[in-house]
Amino acid sequence: MHVIVAEKNISARRIAQILASGKRVTEKKEGGVSTYSFGDTVTIGLRGHVVEVDFEPGYQNWRSELYTPRSLIDAKMIKVPTEKRIVYLLQKLAKQADRITIATDFDTEGELIGKEAYDLIRAASRNVPVDRARFSAITQQEIQNAFAKTTALDFALAAAGEARQTVDLMWGASLTRFISLAARRGGQNILSVGRVQTPTLSMIVDREKEIESFVPETYWQLSLLTEKAGQEVEARHTNGRFKEKPAAQQVYDRTKAPLLVTDVTTGTKQDRAPSPFDTTGFIVAAARLGFTAANAMRIAEDLYMNGFISYPRTDNTVYPPSLDITGILKTLQNSPFRKDVEWVIAHRRGVPTRGKKSSTDHPPIHPAGPASRDVLGDDAFRIYELVLRRFLATLAPDAQWKTEKVVFDAGGEGYTATGGQLLEPGWHVVYPFSEAKEVILPPFETGEKLPVKNVTLDEKETQPPARYTQSRLIQRMEELGLGTKSTRHEVIAKLVSRKYVEGTPLRPTVVGRVVTESLEQHADTITKPDMTQTLEAHMQQIKGSERTREDVVKESRGMLHAAFDQLEAHERAIGDDILSRTAEELNLGTCPVCGTGTLAIKHLRGSTQFIGCSRYPDCTFNIGLPVTQWGWAVRTDEVCDRHRLSFVRLVRKGARPWDIGCPLCHHISSNRESLSEIPSLTPPLQGKLEALHIYTASDLVKSEPGWLATALDISSADAVRLKQDAEAEMLLLKKRSECRKFLRNHLTPRKGRSYAAIQKALKGAGVTDISSLAHADAAVLRTAGISEQEAAQVLGEARSVHTLQTFKEIGIPPASIRKYHAAGISSPGDFCTIHPLILSKKSGISLGTVYRHADLVCGYLKRPAPKKMTKLQLEKSRKELMAIPGMTEEMILPLLQAGVADILGLLAADPKILSGQTGLQHEKISRLQVSAKKIKDNEIIRI
Ligand SMILES: [Zn+2]
Ligand SMILES: [Zn+2]
Repeated sequence: MHVIVAEKNISARRIAQILASGKRVTEKKEGGVSTYSFGDTVTIGLRGHVVEVDFEPGYQNWRSELYTPRSLIDAKMIKVPTEKRIVYLLQKLAKQADRITIATDFDTEGELIGKEAYDLIRAASRNVPVDRARFSAITQQEIQNAFAKTTALDFALAAAGEARQTVDLMWGASLTRFISLAARRGGQNILSVGRVQTPTLSMIVDREKEIESFVPETYWQLSLLTEKAGQEVEARHTNGRFKEKPAAQQVYDRTKAPLLVTDVTTGTKQDRAPSPFDTTGFIVAAARLGFTAANAMRIAEDLYMNGFISYPRTDNTVYPPSLDITGILKTLQNSPFRKDVEWVIAHRRGVPTRGKKSSTDHPPIHPAGPASRDVLGDDAFRIYELVLRRFLATLAPDAQWKTEKVVFDAGGEGYTATGGQLLEPGWHVVYPFSEAKEVILPPFETGEKLPVKNVTLDEKETQPPARYTQSRLIQRMEELGLGTKSTRHEVIAKLVSRKYVEGTPLRPTVVGRVVTESLEQHADTITKPDMTQTLEAHMQQIKGSERTREDVVKESRGMLHAAFDQLEAHERAIGDDILSRTAEELNLGTCPVCGTGTLAIKHLRGSTQFIGCSRYPDCTFNIGLPVTQWGWAVRTDEVCDRHRLSFVRLVRKGARPWDIGCPLCHHISSNRESLSEIPSLTPPLQGKLEALHIYTASDLVKSEPGWLATALDISSADAVRLKQDAEAEMLLLKKRSECRKFLRNHLTPRKGRSYAAIQKALKGAGVTDISSLAHADAAVLRTAGISEQEAAQVLGEARSVHTLQTFKEIGIPPASIRKYHAAGISSPGDFCTIHPLILSKKSGISLGTVYRHADLVCGYLKRPAPKKMTKLQLEKSRKELMAIPGMTEEMILPLLQAGVADILGLLAADPKILSGQTGLQHEKISRLQVSAKKIKDNEIIRI
């Protein structure tokens, strides 16, 4: 069996379709991984890297004393599979194969991915022959050629890729950890540092500083307007910029009609057709169409994988002789651009244009096959069209311009006008993305006199350098040797996602700037491009087998250790610097309550975060925020028009951010409902309260009634009532929040379950707190979507919680509650039906205390308390009752509990009722009554 390993699933499928040449291709899935087979051949796609480089175990703990950030430099690295199912299937196929061809992308990264696959194959099969197919486009011709003459895997090229991988991980991990720990940052808030990323950020920061320190200079420019043959023509003063206004003013005053034409020169200018696209040139051109670098590359890679264009990661701007340009033009005749293609075939230049860089790996980006808008969709089609038209332009003739320069004299002052006319449009016919603006002047003759219609003296200012756009930055990175064609756009995307830069064009954030400046000050090897350029040079040496990977990595380790010598010596200063300067990024604006403090986001230990005032404890104003599990609170660019406070956003990895917006608007709206429930708080009063910075029921409770009455212009009685209503509302809110927590704790989260929906349904049924929940019917819970079994459990829990709460509210100390609970006395009603004697005996609590508790509970329940009995009375009753023949000790307590404390009491009782109250047999009671009567009768006789 012949196994072909492609870089992605989609390319595996296409390669199979091409090589099968009409034969049926069968797709098979195993563990979610597809293979494509025809005849004796099977193709399988990787997912780029299927293994990942990581440090050996032990280095994961950031705060380890043993494994310090510096220790990561020399830490051993291991390869861990990240796509286990692909790895499994690849190794399984390797055992069955008698030939394996690696067909990953044709560049350093692709070679490394191929080498990783090779290692996995070798671990499964030591002897199977492995070869390599290299192609620049997934088209029939390229693929067939590549498989007809396969070569060996280029281990030197892969080693270069591996060296970069190792060095990047080493630099990134150790420096990120060092800086984050120094600045006491962790979790989602770490400060990342990278070998390419940091020098790139530093360029953006430097540009910002240039802009800030730029001092604009005023200058003046003169122009005049004349007319010839009904056409207005503008001419500029030959001096260009005037630095002094008086000089410009003198020229202005001297400029007088008539305007004499002193010279007319015409010429022609060659307008060269553009050179082929390399990655950077492509990204720049795509940016003009509105595509970000990352987006343009993503689309281009997709087009490549589907065979529409060649491999988009290339440094080459010269078509190799092997490229079949005529063949490509032929296939493009089937594209929607047939007319343009045919025009180019008819007008094709002798030799295609060429750029400055020529390399052997890939041809420049070119179209590989026809495509239509229907198949690709709008965005991909625009990128496809760009690549196709650029290809056509490189084969089209140069354009020819007619140039014209006219020199005028007005009162001794020289003015000039220039024109340009396209004589031969050449490549502009097929490439509309580069504008060809014509300025056609009317015919002028030397010696001719014309009117001066208008003279303008413009005051202007010199402009600061422009911020980098993404594409300009990529060009600059390329010039400096920062990153590679494959990584530059990813580095920029990373800077944006790490919140180091923002906006278009790019500008640094406070954090981005602070981190860069701190590093610059203490270890500028990390922020300067030199080190990374050196590594690029070393990689070239590895590719040429002039140096080994180990050697290069070792040298890089040395450089990094030197940087750490500087960094560690200044750890404290770096940390404090970053900490104090980034505090600013959490400031939201002036505190609306005290008017002098600053409101800022505060993160406490654990997951608590809130917004507080810098004047705490003098100003206690604060706004609660959801815990960090919902997202880390950050400030955004927007500012509330009403409160002048910056907006707040909760950001969470892998989730859509949660926009809180203006924290005060949020605070007000989230308390609006509860405030509206306060009966005595009318809407106009609510408006007044807001103006007084009273936003919640709790704020209201804390206010002094006298002050409230004056401030709201209401009577003191109304103010007192308002405050009391607010207190009641707070109690209600507290109970509701308890109930919310209770439900969250007792209902297991599951897919499709929304606690908000459950609460809403329960609220509709009048269940808003634990008390109402304890008394609720199971049916109510079921209508809220809770299963019967769960409902029974929740109700049981709610009842027991409610009892405990009630006892607590009544004032029974928790220790006693626990003892009663253990004795099975679990409902307040028990205190009115079970005699204190029994309660005391069962719970072990002294009788006096039980009486006190029974008084409290029965008073609370508004039911009669049991009659009190002292020990002496008790002893007396016991003796009297025990005197009745047939009475036993066991019967005493039940009788006492039923209120029978003496013989007369026993005689007065209805045996049937007493039996029910005591659990004693009816006949037994009757017999006791007979005996008791005898005793009473005897007493009377004795008298
Ligand atoms: Zn304040
Ligand atoms: Zn607001």
